This record gives sequence, C-alpha cells and structure tokens, in this order.
Amino acid sequence: MKCALVTGGSRGIGRAICYKMADMGYYVLVNYKANEQEAQKTLDQIRQNGGDGELLKFDVANKNEVNELLTNWIETNSEKYIEVLINNAGIKDDVLLMWMKDEQWDNVLGTSLNGFFYVTRAVLNSMLMKKYGRIVNVVSLSGLKGLPGQVNYSAAKAGVIGATKALAQEVARRGITVNAVAPGFITTDMTEGLNEKELKSMIPVKRFGTPEEVAHAVGFLASENASYITGEVLSINGGLYS
Ligand code: NAP
Repeated sequence: MKCALVTGGSRGIGRAICYKMADMGYYVLVNYKANEQEAQKTLDQIRQNGGDGELLKFDVANKNEVNELLTNWIETNSEKYIEVLINNAGIKDDVLLMWMKDEQWDNVLGTSLNGFFYVTRAVLNSMLMKKYGRIVNVVSLSGLKGLPGQVNYSAAKAGVIGATKALAQEVARRGITVNAVAPGFITTDMTEGLNEKELKSMIPVKRFGTPEEVAHAVGFLASENASYITGEVLSINGGLYS
C-alpha cells in the first residue's frame, strides 16, 4: 500500500495537502504534534471523501520521538510504503533579533530544519530501496527574501531550501525527487492576527492565498508527472516576490 506522510497535517496547509494526497489515491499518514482533535477532523474528512489513512503523533523536532514512532511504524508496517513525504510542519515566533531568546531561535529552527532532517532521514531508506519517491518541503517567501522580525524563521526556511537542493542531487539517480514550495501569505492559524488589509495591498493579486492553492502545487510536485523537476523551489505568493 502506497502512503503519503504529511507532517503537520492537523491544520492549515498540511490539512489541505492531506486531502490532496488522499484524492491522489494515497493512504495518508496525518502527523501532528499536539492537536489530536483537529488531526482527527482531517482524517474523518479523508474517510468521508472515500480515502483512508491514520494519525501519527510525533514532534518532528524531537529526534527520539521521530526515531521511536516513525521508525517503529515503518518497521511494523512492512506492507505499507511511504512513497511521498511532505515536510510541512512549521512554526513561527516573530521578534527582532535584538530581543530574540535562545528558545525562540531553537524552537523555530528545530521544527523546520531539524524536523526536515529527522523525518527525511527516517523515511529515505525505503524510497532508496524502491527506487522511487517524492519529497516536497514547505518553505516560505521568508526563506527566499528574508523578512524583518523573522530572522529565525527566514534562516530555518533558507536552510531547508539549501537542503532541498543538496538532497535532490544525492538521490536523483534513484528516482527520488526533492522539491520545495514557498508560499507567501496564506490564510491559516499562522497568519491570524496579521494586518491583512495592509498586507493585501502589497500583493499583486490583492488577496491572501488559500491552503488549497498550495496543496494543488504540492500535488503536482508529488505526482509522477513531475519526474524531471528536482531541486526546485516553486513560489506560491500571488506575485509578491517575483
Ligand atoms: P498552522 O496552521 O499553524 O499549522 C501548523 C501545523 O504544523 C499543525 O498541524 C501543527 O500541529 C504542526 N506542527 C507544528 N509544530 C510541529 C512539530 N514540532 N511536530 C509536528 N507537527 C508540528 O500553519 P500553516 O500556516 O498551515 O503552515 C504550514 C507550513 O507552511 C509551515 O511550515 C509554515 O512555515 C509554512 N508557511 C505558511 C505560510 C502561511 O502564510 N500560512 C506561508 C509560508 C510558509 P498541531 O495542530 O498538533 O499543533
């Protein structure tokens, strides 16, 4: 059985990606950190739409948890194979660098950058053995452009962009592609509280994006049709950056 693992699948962009993966016929592993109720809602909706999957609770930033839960899942589910990995889990904790506490740096880097490393390392071996795989990392406009007040978040996402390009070259011969999507402003819990009216005026399409608009692009990069695209970063930002 072919599976897609979506980290941070309980809410926002990750949830929309879970639905997309289910539509593409994957058994979806819905990862989340704490919000079981929302994760269950994602899974219920997948099942209502005729798909299937299961919840997989672990903190992507916690090496031991990833190793214990994910590695254990892979070992005990030998009939299932994670063909698609979407590294989507991420947090922000915005503050000027001058005032940034150690834990604000560590937590943001830990979730996006270490999370990418721990989860990808755990999943990659089975993709290498099958000589096929799709890895899509959800980065950000901040990782390309850098945004003030987000030195930690920009560094984390830029780090994942570098890792995307390097890993793409390591595994290309084994039928595995590694790409990233870089959303701009997308309406989710993460952007709640931002001054949408003011920000919208800077975006050429004059609105925030939807999680579904990100999920469509992720779905394409995760498909067989995208087999000659690797090491790329696709911006999804309503024209804000380009
Ligand atoms: P969100 O609505 O805040 O959802 C975050 C998701 O990540 C939740 O499912 C959360 O799980 C999960 N998560 C957080 N820390 C985790 C951890 N340590 N281990 C496992 N799961 C964890 O965020 P979003 O807006 O959908 O963002 C998704 C991704 O897109 C992030 O990487 C973000 O940086 C990126 N992004 C977002 C935007 C935007 O405008 N929204 C723009 C560019 C990039 P729980 O529910 O259990 O907390």
